[in-house]
This record gives sequence, structure tokens and C-alpha cells, in this order.
Amino acid sequence: MAKAAAKTKKSGAATEAARVRAILRGLAKMYPDAECALAHKSAWELVTATILSAQCTDVRVNMVTPELFRMWPTAEALAGAPLAAVEQVIRSTGFYRNKAKSIVGAARVVTEKFGGVVPQTMAELLELPGVARKTANVVLGTWFKKSEGVVVDTHVKRIARRLGLTKAVSPVMIERDLVKLLPRERWTAFSHEIIHHGRKCCVARKPRCAECGLEKLCSAKDKTC
Ligand code: SF4
Repeated sequence: MAKAAAKTKKSGAATEAARVRAILRGLAKMYPDAECALAHKSAWELVTATILSAQCTDVRVNMVTPELFRMWPTAEALAGAPLAAVEQVIRSTGFYRNKAKSIVGAARVVTEKFGGVVPQTMAELLELPGVARKTANVVLGTWFKKSEGVVVDTHVKRIARRLGLTKAVSPVMIERDLVKLLPRERWTAFSHEIIHHGRKCCVARKPRCAECGLEKLCSAKDKTC
């Protein structure tokens, strides 16, 4: 009996691994050019844009950052900026008081502690005000090409659950499940692809399942076909 149960468990795991591989193939096929949608030309600009993207669309952030980076082109410049002036520039991204505090605070830490250079480790990035694992993973994966984790934003959270890749609710636990399931070299691309999928197809309300290339691999309760 125990042997039979072990065999069943093993074949279940193999089936699940094959399903995960099929999901990854499907995503790569649907979104071969998926990249970070936040406009940036440096690690510092990406840190700033990602902090501003909390509870805000990337499109809106991209409308605000050209002026922000024109007025304060470097972390050192922003570190000395008057908070009220920064607030005015980023106002339309929402939660602008907190975000202004975060980006000016992050600019100060980058300038004073890291010599004006954005650090390249998770532990150091987490020292910057306003930077949690999500922002750190974006910067490490997208700019520094280092896979230290999987970005878990609202799209990744929703779709990973719909696809049965996790049952967890908190971003930290979801990330823990995803890094166990996905090959490391796919961590960064997976996040970009899922974020694109969340915008184009697997939207929060009424996902467009009839158009979805993952439909046969998905048993989400709120599937629409
Ligand atoms: S089938 Fe529907 S719910 Fe499942 S991933 Fe595709 S769009 Fe999302």
C-alpha cells in the first residue's frame, strides 16, 4: 500500500512538473518580448520608477518620470531636493507624500551609504526606504540580470493562484512557492510575461480565457470558458 501511494505521489509530481514546463513554454510563446514596462535608463531610475509604481499604472509612472529625472537626474541630486517640490512632480501617481519621502530617502541612502551607486544585492537594496522585495527583485532581475527571486506584484499574485502554482496569499509566501517550482533562469522572464498576461488577457475581472494560450493548463475557479 505504502509503495503504491509513493508511486502515485511520484507520478503526480511528474505530471505537475510537466504542466509547469508547459505553462512556461506557453508564456514564452505568447510574450516573447516581454520586458519591464517602466521607462528607465539607469539602475537608479528603475529604483525610482518601481517605487512610484506602487498602486499606480506603469503608463502613469512613465508620464511623470521624464520631468522628475530632468529636474533631479541622479540619486545625489534627488537627495538634496525639497520634499514639497518632489511631491508636486509625482502627485498624479497617488500616495505622493509617502512616495516622495521614499524616493528622497532612498536617494540619500544611495548617496551617503553607497557612494551614489545603486547596490546589487538583495540585502543592501532592502536598506533603501520604500524598497521591499518586489522592487529589489525588479532592479536585480531587470537591470543587473541577477535572479535572486521572483517579482510578485498584483498580476503575479492573481495569476499564479489561478494557474494553481501557489495557494499562498502573501507575496513572500507566493514567491517562496514560485522559486521552488520555476527554474532560476526563468524567474525574471516569468514575472515580465505574467505581468503582460495580466494586462492583456488574464485580467482581474472576467479573464479572457477563450483567447488564452494557457487555457488547457488552467483550472481557475473563475475561468470564463
Ligand atoms: S485560462 Fe483564464 S484564468 Fe486561466 S490563465 Fe488563462 S485567462 Fe487566466
